[in-house]
Amino acid sequence: MMIDLRSDTVTKPTPEMRRAMAEAEVGDDVYGEDPTLNRLEARAAEIFGRQAGLFVPTGTMGNTIALKVHTRHGQEIICEAKSHVMNYELAMAGWFAGCLCRTIAAADGILTWASIKGEVRKLSPHWAPTGMIAIENTHNMAGGTVTPPAVLNEICDGAHALGLPVHLDGARVFNAAVALGVSVGELTEKCDTVMFCLSKGLGAPVGSMLVGSADTIDRARLYRKRLGGGMRQVGVLAAPGLIALEKMPARLAEDHANARLLAEGLARVEGLSTDLARVQTNIVILDVAGTGLSGAQFSRALQERSVLANAVSETAVRFVTHYDVSREQSKAALAASTEVARSVLAASRP
Ligand SMILES: *Cc1c(COP(=O)(O)O)cnc(C)c1O
Repeated sequence: MMIDLRSDTVTKPTPEMRRAMAEAEVGDDVYGEDPTLNRLEARAAEIFGRQAGLFVPTGTMGNTIALKVHTRHGQEIICEAKSHVMNYELAMAGWFAGCLCRTIAAADGILTWASIKGEVRKLSPHWAPTGMIAIENTHNMAGGTVTPPAVLNEICDGAHALGLPVHLDGARVFNAAVALGVSVGELTEKCDTVMFCLSKGLGAPVGSMLVGSADTIDRARLYRKRLGGGMRQVGVLAAPGLIALEKMPARLAEDHANARLLAEGLARVEGLSTDLARVQTNIVILDVAGTGLSGAQFSRALQERSVLANAVSETAVRFVTHYDVSREQSKAALAASTEVARSVLAASRP
C-alpha cells in the first residue's frame, strides 16, 4: 500500500463521517433551509468567537471571497511571497477582486508588522492604495510554520489603526493552535475574517469555512453565489464537517509528532537536509540537493518504494503527515528516504 504524504487533503472520511453523511438531515441551503449546514455554520462561528460562518466548497473559494469582500478594484493586497493566495489560486486576486498582490518575502513565512508597515501605500498619482493584508497561518510552503498570537495581534492592531482589514488564510489554523497550545478563537481574535479547511488535517471529504462579522458574511454569501457556490442539500457535506470540527483537532498533535520523527530522522541522513526549527506542525520540507537528485527525481525514487511526496521546488520535496499515515508508516517513509539517499550517494562514489 502507498504511504501518501503528498498532502493532508488526501485524508478519506472516517466511518463515522460516512454514517453521518448517509443520515444527515438536509434542506435547500440557497433558501437557508439545510439544518445540518446551519448547525455547522453556527458552530464554526461559535468556536472562532465570531458572529457568522459560511461554508464554501474549497479553501480557494473562501480566500477568493475574502479578498473580494475586503477590497475594491485597483487596490493592493499585502501578502507573503510564497503564500497560497499569491501562488496557488490562479491569480484570483486579480481576476475576481481586481487587485494586485504586493508580496513581502519572509524565509520562515512569518510576516511581522515591522516587515509590513513600510509596504503600506496610500493612493497617489503613482501608487495604488493598500486595500488589505492577508496572513497565512500555518504557512504551507515555508514548512507549516506558525505565526504566534502576539505577532498576529500586532499586525492586526497596526493594520486596523490605518483602516486596513486583515484576512487570515488559516487553511491549517487548527494545526497552528495545537502547536501553540491556544484556542483558534484566541489565536485569530483580531483578524477580520478567517478561512479554514475542514478537508485537510481535520479529515472531512469536502469543504472550508469563512468566519467573520454578520455583515461581512452576509456579503460573502452573495459572492459565493456569484462564483457558482450556492449549494442545495449540502447537509451531506456539513455532517462530516461537524465531526471534523468537533473531534479531529484533538488528534492533530499526533501528526505533528510524526512530522517531527520524520524530520529528525531525515536531518541525520547524508545528502538530505531539513530546517528542524521550521518543523512546527505537520509539514516537512526536505532539501535533497546533497544527493545530486532534483526534487522530482527524488519524489519518483520514493514512489518506487511506495512513498508519495511532492517535489515543491527544483531541490525540495514536501512531506505532509495526517491521520491516514500512522507512526509506523512515518518510520517506513523515513527508511525509504534514507535508502534513496544512500543508494544514490553510493552509486556516485568512485
Ligand atoms: C490548501 C490550502 C488552501 C485552500 O485549498 P483548496 O484546495 O482550495 O481547498 C488555502 N490556503 C492554504 C495555505 C492551503 O494550504
